[in-house]
Amino acid sequence: MSTIKLHDKYFKTYLSKDKIAKVVAYLAKEIALDLEKGEIPIFVGILNGSFMFAADFIREYEGDCEVSFVKLASYQGTKSQGKVKQLVGINEDLKGRTVIILEDIIDTGNTLVEIYDIFRDKQLKQLKIATLFFKPDVFRKGLPIDYIGMSIPDKFVVGYGLDYDGLGRNLADIYQLTTHKMTNIVLFGPPGAGKGTQATLLKDKYNLVHISTGDVFRFNIKNNTELGILAKSFMDKGDLVPDEVTIEMLKAEVDKNTEAKGFIFDGFPRTELQAKALDAFLAEKGEKINGMVALEVNEDLLVKRLLKRGETSGRPDDQDETKIRNRFNEYETKTAILKDYYEAQKKYFGVNGVGTIEEVNQRLSDVFDTL
Ligand code: AMP
Repeated sequence: MSTIKLHDKYFKTYLSKDKIAKVVAYLAKEIALDLEKGEIPIFVGILNGSFMFAADFIREYEGDCEVSFVKLASYQGTKSQGKVKQLVGINEDLKGRTVIILEDIIDTGNTLVEIYDIFRDKQLKQLKIATLFFKPDVFRKGLPIDYIGMSIPDKFVVGYGLDYDGLGRNLADIYQLTTHKMTNIVLFGPPGAGKGTQATLLKDKYNLVHISTGDVFRFNIKNNTELGILAKSFMDKGDLVPDEVTIEMLKAEVDKNTEAKGFIFDGFPRTELQAKALDAFLAEKGEKINGMVALEVNEDLLVKRLLKRGETSGRPDDQDETKIRNRFNEYETKTAILKDYYEAQKKYFGVNGVGTIEEVNQRLSDVFDTL
């Protein structure tokens, strides 16, 4: 799934060009079946939106046909405006002919009313309406529609000829306006503060996806992947893995979860460059970080906790005090400044990380509830 920005709004992929091609082929076949043998219909595309549909449809249609266009306009922005204007009319003599309208989309039906008006006094043999897309939830007119390619929900769509204020017509796929906003939280704190434990509890409670960059690296190390081999040399010493590697990995993890309602980022970002990359990456999707929630625990207590964890965790970086102290050094010199980064955006929320798991969880939940 990809997200694009047109003017001020974000759109995500909704229907692929392959899916659209199937619907177009289906319509061409259905219409051909209904026409009398040897009949030459006139297909009339409704501009601007139907130019792609009309072009593809006509290529799919087997048999002789004529093609014409009328130009109507009713949309401004993402709202259908009541009034429809005819900007270019029809010049052909249509007496006794079968006219088949090719519409890209029918929603309220205002344009359809105008179409019926245009052709009413043209003494046609018959007028048929074919639309690629139809929005049944908003259609308010009792007028017949003969062929519907596909019914879609009442969400604004662009692409394949359809535009948002002039943009998006050139896209091969159909995109839908994104309305859902994620809740994205950076769970922050020095090594051993309890981020992993708390994230596991919070992700279930708030229905968020938990991404721990440390866990992803350890998974890769265990499976001996290229990324794992690279990361191991840094991790074993308690150094940070280089930003480029970590950022690319994080993006891939986010993109795996297309349906996520939001993320708890645990162990990421750890440098200002990572924080900026995360902001830019989320902004591309029309999303943002809601807040950084930080577990505050003093260093001596943390060293004790980590050494204790090292007895069972099997993590080489937990078993040796100098490696642990190096991780704190990395934290102090590269990561701790992120407090200022998020504070400047009024997104920093400090939480006392000393206490039982339940106590700390309650304090974190109190902050999560406000984000
Ligand atoms: P953690 O499990 O979060 O304590 O991470 C363990 C180790 O993984 C760290 O000491 C780093 O070597 C590496 N690591 C995890 N996340 C990052 C990150 N965002 N940037 C760089 N290195 C990371």
